[in-house]
Amino acid sequence: MQTTWLEQDKKHLLHPLHHPTAHQEPLIIESAEGIWLRTVDGREYIDGLAGLWNVLIGHGNRELADVAQQQMATMAYCSNYIGTANLPAIELAQKLAGFAYEGLNFTYFASGGAEANESAFKTARFYWKRLGKPDKVKVIARQDAYHGVTLATMSATGIAPYWTMFEPRVPNFLHIPAPYPYRFEGDVQAGETIGQAAARALEEAILGEGADTVAAFIAEPVQGAGGVIVPPDDYFPRVREICDEYDVLLIADEVITGFGRTGDWFALNRWNVEPDILSFAKGITSGYLPLGGIQVSDSIREVILNAPTDQRWMHAYTYSGHATCCAVAIKNLEILERLNLVNQAAEMGERLLAGLHVLMDEFECVGNVRGLGLMCAIEFVADRQTKAPAQIANKILQVCLDNGLLTRVKGESLLLAPPLIIVEEEIDQILAIVRMGIESVL
Ligand code: PMP
Repeated sequence: MQTTWLEQDKKHLLHPLHHPTAHQEPLIIESAEGIWLRTVDGREYIDGLAGLWNVLIGHGNRELADVAQQQMATMAYCSNYIGTANLPAIELAQKLAGFAYEGLNFTYFASGGAEANESAFKTARFYWKRLGKPDKVKVIARQDAYHGVTLATMSATGIAPYWTMFEPRVPNFLHIPAPYPYRFEGDVQAGETIGQAAARALEEAILGEGADTVAAFIAEPVQGAGGVIVPPDDYFPRVREICDEYDVLLIADEVITGFGRTGDWFALNRWNVEPDILSFAKGITSGYLPLGGIQVSDSIREVILNAPTDQRWMHAYTYSGHATCCAVAIKNLEILERLNLVNQAAEMGERLLAGLHVLMDEFECVGNVRGLGLMCAIEFVADRQTKAPAQIANKILQVCLDNGLLTRVKGESLLLAPPLIIVEEEIDQILAIVRMGIESVL
């Protein structure tokens, strides 16, 4: 049976990031429970990246299935364009008011992360146009950022292989060095920390472009797909100051970090920083149904509400405020709160990171480990002095898979971000498998 499915898959299904050489023996997942995935031929794997970072409450939750079923039977979908509304969308927007950050009380729903970021970019431009600054259109992002792969979000994404075959990019997006302490690519001046230097790169980019041309700076609080890059503590507070000084909106892309993954409900709270626009997706439904969106500051809200009709915020998606997706999100948030999963992410994340540090103490080929909450990475090097990449991450990944751990790598970093419901023994199981992977390449 596996063979038949495989044949049909290869013939008819175009996958994200498609290339046949990377799709010789795909796992065909049939069922899932907790942190475990099971294939059509009965093999079991730990879901080491919680789907794509999103399955926060774990797989197989009946409550979400029941809510979806009820909402579909009552009213699955209606248009949410102005003139109509639905109860789950209203209730969720109300729940989210001030939930992530005190000053964000106005929510627009999309279906995923890229749609959320598209909405954020357009809203930033809209805002400045309404304030009489129509030239403020540029968006500054960072190297190794991932913001999606629609044409505009791909242009904000700072990982070049995503551009290669789709150039030219949308103009007016530019990139500055990421605050990646282990491999910082910007210049650090005497007496300066890496966090300060990385923030200075933002100031210099704004000045270089002209503040009158820059609409927004977009940043993931912890860069996810770029390799779990945790910024130094002094980075975001300084970024906030710079954005304020030059009238640049700060867009926090919390598509991965939102709803608890880092051990805080929303990650910038850790540094007492509030964004002007928040992008969210993934964890809001734990991936059970597609949902994303943005929240905007009260001043952006006022500008939207006070626009003349012929200059309205003319932005829209068919599935904005999808009733069933919103109903599932409401229940998902209730479960995250009831099970105290944000604290669990903090605690289990500490255990995972401590275990990775043990591996670093023991194995020379581990050059760096890092993480915040249940978002961790272990990076392999050929030489700790030169930090030359080791070219072993893919082999380790394969051994992990052979031993029942499914996850992904970015370059030479192995990424780990399991569901937040994970317990101590399961964290230890992941660590044991990663250890086997490392030992196998020695
Ligand atoms: N932003 C971030 C930080 C992401 O990690 C992702 C997806 N991995 C996106 C945006 C894009 O989300 P989607 O794939 O739902 O468009």
